[in-house]
Amino acid sequence: SQTGAELSVSELTVGYGGGPVLHDISITVRPGEVVALLGANGAGKTTLLSALTGRVRAASGSVTFDGRDLRGMRTEDRARLGLALVPDGQSVVGELTVDENLRLGALWRHRGKAREAAIRQIYGMFEPLDRRKHADGHQLSGGERQMLALGRALIAEPRLIALDEPSLGLAPLVVAQIMRTLRETARERGLTVLLAEQNVTGALSIADRGVVVNLGRIVADGDAKALAEDPSIRHAYLGF
Ligand code: ATP
Repeated sequence: SQTGAELSVSELTVGYGGGPVLHDISITVRPGEVVALLGANGAGKTTLLSALTGRVRAASGSVTFDGRDLRGMRTEDRARLGLALVPDGQSVVGELTVDENLRLGALWRHRGKAREAAIRQIYGMFEPLDRRKHADGHQLSGGERQMLALGRALIAEPRLIALDEPSLGLAPLVVAQIMRTLRETARERGLTVLLAEQNVTGALSIADRGVVVNLGRIVADGDAKALAEDPSIRHAYLGF
């Protein structure tokens, strides 16, 4: 399987027409590294992920992935380079079964026996999906749906995976399982991970580094463990 690639965001400013929402953001995520992107509701996390996939255009600054400038590149070409986004919750097709959803993710990456092996591997990572493989997407619990969204992204063997609040609305045990699987996959495959979360404790428990965004600006960037233990950061921005 493939190894991760470096993401480099440099002095990025993004807005929606009413003035910038992100100001001068610089973040580097190295191959195989898990970086937690933290911040309250409205801090700008989703906007940053949208700038990576090309859904919103940068007013200034740059984003490079594996050394390639992504400016002006279409979303599908970014995906072909190995950038995968797992949006919050809604990417599962409700009318298709779990198995069909997974096959959709494998479509352009694997054929024949390799496809079957890739699908078996995802079922090995997420046993609840294996048990529910013939259930329709709309019958799944929130946790199962999040596992399926993640499994469907991973099956295409991306080089970087960006997740938007995968723990939103899920029970703590399910969050722990998803986080653990993400951590293990990142280790095994050398996958680069950018994890946007309001669940600070969960995210920092598996991250190498944390980046804290407040009102569209980076207010802290450092070792995950050090951040979690820094009282001034914790009280001011992380809410615990
Ligand atoms: P959340 O956890 O709620 O998704 P977030 O940290 O991801 O929060 P964003 O969704 O990126 O934050 O929002 C950052 C700011 O940009 C907010 O003030 C929001 O109102 C604004 N914003 C987001 N999307 C749009 C849009 N499509 N048009 C205009 N403003 C937007």
